[in-house]
Amino acid sequence: MHVIHLSVECFPLAKVGGLADVVGALPRYQRKSGVDAWVVSPFYDKPFTKDRKFQLIHAGTFVQGGETLAYEVLKEKKDPLGFPLYLIRIPGKLDREEVYCYPDEAEQWIAFQHAFLRWVTDAGIIPDVVNCHDHHVGLIPFLMKHAVDFNQLADVKTLFTIHNGQYQGWMTWDKGALLPAFDTWKWGLLDWDGLINPFAAAVKCCDAFSTVSEGYLQELFVQANGLEGLFQTEAYKGVGIVNGIDDEYWNPELDNQISKTYKKSSVKSGKKSNKKAFCDAVGLNSNLPLLAFIGRFAQEKGADLLPAIISNIFSRLEDKICIFILGSGDEAVETTLKELQDQYPRRLATFIGYNEQLAHQVYASADLLLMPSRVEPCGLNQLYALKYGTIPIVHAVGGLKDTVIDLEEQGGYGFLFAAAEPEAAVESVARAVNTLTDASMLQKVRQKAMSLDFSWDKSANKYIQLYDQL
Ligand code: ADP
Repeated sequence: MHVIHLSVECFPLAKVGGLADVVGALPRYQRKSGVDAWVVSPFYDKPFTKDRKFQLIHAGTFVQGGETLAYEVLKEKKDPLGFPLYLIRIPGKLDREEVYCYPDEAEQWIAFQHAFLRWVTDAGIIPDVVNCHDHHVGLIPFLMKHAVDFNQLADVKTLFTIHNGQYQGWMTWDKGALLPAFDTWKWGLLDWDGLINPFAAAVKCCDAFSTVSEGYLQELFVQANGLEGLFQTEAYKGVGIVNGIDDEYWNPELDNQISKTYKKSSVKSGKKSNKKAFCDAVGLNSNLPLLAFIGRFAQEKGADLLPAIISNIFSRLEDKICIFILGSGDEAVETTLKELQDQYPRRLATFIGYNEQLAHQVYASADLLLMPSRVEPCGLNQLYALKYGTIPIVHAVGGLKDTVIDLEEQGGYGFLFAAAEPEAAVESVARAVNTLTDASMLQKVRQKAMSLDFSWDKSANKYIQLYDQL
């Protein structure tokens, strides 16, 4: 079976969040089961594309809104990622330093999708399934079925995987003129409330869609930014498949980005030594429990709640805890966190920005990881935390609810709270600190967490079963 994963993020080529982690790992695990899985992504102007070796395998042109654009397809030599990686280069459109936030984002992703279709059509590549990830490639299921030039792809099956339904890629209808020619009487499939909505179009036109957890799928039927009705209509082709983790890269036994590797049996000394090195480096007291947050400072992550949570934790737990925050985004949150850091030296430290190595060190060093997300399609942070013996404290939503069992339940290994509100989060942090001051309890819960299997093996096979059904 030949499957092409189409995504604008893929670790380590380009990562903004969990989408990259999934696309950079899932195909490798699928290949272990005999599926010929490829990844196709844009060729960015990033260190990855400068440092690695590529081979030009195809070149051509296509017309976008009257402009002729040249494109090239480059394949990474020797497949070091464990799967074939094909990058589409379109000078002036895709070869940029960042993935998102350009004013011409619509043109950018239309060009990527058009070039992909032009390439596979001209090269006679007919995969069994095209697995499209998120709205940036959401026009593909529509175009494969209805674009005049690409009808040889009309019978290829499409799976649309939803990593985040908050972003839908809306564009005004004047952008319709940039699309490859399509059966005009099908225009309604692209439309949602007078705008082109690539996300909604994908849900309508794909052969199946998947969400990155079962819990998130159920939530979309009730709250999907206006698309609840669409999800209810298309429910028959929706499946929830929880994300796995790349347990070769996110593994405290093998991790070369942390100060000391450790395994389940050595978790106590391993975490202690990582914590000491980390806390010394960031100016925190390593003798206190360390609570961490990692993520985008976005509303969906509950990042705006952090300042109130931090102040309440410090007034409630006095000098019993330290906090480290790694992330960036909302400027108001960034500013308030910096002010709080000045107010609580040696108790609160922050790194405002993105830092992959620091994230590994935080998972290895922290005792507790807080996720007050309002929306969480799957959440990978809690899975990485568990793998490193760090106990998650999470709002019971989406994939967090599916993957974390409260310590009060049978077989539990984490802490859940019912509302994304500071009081509820602080209550759970206090409960966690009190429970885990018992050293034997802490050891038991850490070992339980580290023995859980969230590797991709299981979930990769669920995708394969779904492709088979298609
Ligand atoms: P998202 O909604 O952002 O995709 P996920 O939980 O699915 O959330 O994935 C987040 C991924 O991004 C994890 O690999 C996490 O470690 C990483 N991450 C988020 N913010 C940062 C940061 N500031 N620095 C380093 N890694 C980060």
